[in-house]
Amino acid sequence: MNTLEHAIAGRTGESPRTIRRLGFRLNTVSINPSAADDLRLVVDCPFCGRAVPYPGRVRDGSPALAECLHPRCDVYFDFDPADVYIE
Ligand SMILES: [Zn+2]
Repeated sequence: MNTLEHAIAGRTGESPRTIRRLGFRLNTVSINPSAADDLRLVVDCPFCGRAVPYPGRVRDGSPALAECLHPRCDVYFDFDPADVYIE
C-alpha cells in the first residue's frame, strides 16, 4: 500500500483495498504526503455539475447517496463509484 492510498483510506474510512480498487492515482510524482490532509473525495452533482463530498458507504457496504447542497438542487443522488475522484 502506498502512502496516498493509506492517506485516502484514513480520510475516507474506506479500506485500502477499496481505495486501490477504485484506482486513485496522482498524475505527479512530486506529491507531498502531508498534503493528503487536503485531499477529499468528491463526486459531481448530475444536476448542477458541482463537486460534492463523497458520502462513503452505508453499513451494508453499498454506496450512500451523495447530497448536493446547492440551493437549486438540494437533492440526494445516486452515483457510480467509478465517478468518485480526488479534488
Ligand atoms: Zn447540484
